Amino acid sequence: MSETRFCKKCLLRDMDQTAYFKNLFEYIDALEDEKKVVKEEYERRLLICKECDELISGMCKVCGCYVELRAVLKNSSCPAVHPKWQS
Ligand code: SF4
Repeated sequence: MSETRFCKKCLLRDMDQTAYFKNLFEYIDALEDEKKVVKEEYERRLLICKECDELISGMCKVCGCYVELRAVLKNSSCPAVHPKWQS
């Protein structure tokens, strides 16, 4: 069984970019399936984000979060005034 490790006390500036993104994707993988949308819905949401003017370097300018994390959560929605995808 592989061990998933997260740095609970690290800020982005304390981590190298590779380690940070590895941590983010490991975090997404480790989320319970019942909290995540199915792959097709995840990809649909990300395609919408990729076409959105609010996306910059993987982050949503409206909420400041990484869209790959926001989009994977079942109970999440696009934070825009006129949401482009919803839970
Ligand atoms: S979450 Fe909404 S506002 Fe943010 S980048 Fe995606 S589509 Fe755009």
